[in-house]
Amino acid sequence: MNDAERLPRLSELSERQIRGAACVWCAADLVAGQDVDLGEQRCLWLSYKASWFPRACPHCAEQHNEVPPRHRLAP
Ligand SMILES: [Zn+2]
Repeated sequence: MNDAERLPRLSELSERQIRGAACVWCAADLVAGQDVDLGEQRCLWLSYKASWFPRACPHCAEQHNEVPPRHRLAP
């Protein structure tokens, strides 16, 4: 599954979700240090190439099998 399929469509997201202030899936406000960075995403905005940086709350990240890098370390 590629990035375009695993994340919601940009057109369905709020400005807060697009800039990483809110969870990309449930729109909850994110707390610094408890959010999951989903990495830079490439997109086309009108005819421009652009990037956006979605973030998710830990609950949604787990639901979508997005584990923050620091949690991939052995326990
Ligand atoms: Zn969420």
